[in-house]
Amino acid sequence: MQNLLNDISAQASAEPDKGNVATYIPELAGIDPNQFGIAIALADGQVFTAGDADVPFSIQSVSKVFALALALGRVGDQLWQRVGREPSGLAFDSILLLERENGVPRNPFINAGALVTTDTYLAGSSPREALGELLRFVRAAADDDSIHMNEKVARSEIATGHRNFSLAHYLASHGNLRASVDKVLGTYCHQCAVEMTCRQLALAGRFLVDADDMLALVSIERRRRINALMMTCGHYDGSGDFAFRVGMPGKSGVGGGILVISPGRASIAVWSPGLNRYGNSKLGTEAMELFARKTGWSVFGVPHMQIEGDV
Ligand code: GLN
Repeated sequence: MQNLLNDISAQASAEPDKGNVATYIPELAGIDPNQFGIAIALADGQVFTAGDADVPFSIQSVSKVFALALALGRVGDQLWQRVGREPSGLAFDSILLLERENGVPRNPFINAGALVTTDTYLAGSSPREALGELLRFVRAAADDDSIHMNEKVARSEIATGHRNFSLAHYLASHGNLRASVDKVLGTYCHQCAVEMTCRQLALAGRFLVDADDMLALVSIERRRRINALMMTCGHYDGSGDFAFRVGMPGKSGVGGGILVISPGRASIAVWSPGLNRYGNSKLGTEAMELFARKTGWSVFGVPHMQIEGDV
């Protein structure tokens, strides 16, 4: 496994086309695209890393996975009255379908749907309390109390987040937000501004693997369902492509991170800030494609299958 990660990291670093760093959040625009990290946490907690796996990055939309778990913990299946479970086939920040579908977003991983999940775990508490709950969840999953939010990134997004404000107002006009637009956006942008290293994110993702010590955070059934949504919706209009190339549930963020789950086996975090045309990490996706090919770890494959050698 260590050799494989070293090879993947070397290959990614040698790739001349790194994709484009997100610029619409000013604080993220200056990140050096020449960075690549990967970490894998096995179900038993053993960790392997390569490249810049200990450099913190903004997890952005990867946070929507933790937010969904919290929202489901709060209201259970009632959440599905306010947000759907279908891929949207559109960009993460699109407003198109909201009008046609009466303010019910397609899924919890596009921005409109994530605003509803944030509103759900925010219900009845202050943004500070809600964000404290989110951080407690992430820290417990990763078993690491040093994980924090980057205030500058959050403020930078709040100051320029006209699209997300529009989405939130649209949801509110359909009665699909309980808290005020300002509170929801403040909470959402702070949630997206959580920073983690690949090592921390891989460990935090273990709550979506069959790890016995994680059952307090999410039930087996919910874990399975969150993984299903990651597979179908975790990469927006690039979800089909990611499933085709990697064959494992994943959730991306515009910070360049991707969390990938091999159910029963491992949680994998990969990071490189340059994005492809869907807004997902370019090198991260390519690295995961190579990883899947080398290990044979696909949810669509035979469980014991290993394609190229013994890892
Ligand atoms: N905070 C970002 C936004 O709302 C998250 C988007 C993403 O990572 N795809 O635009």
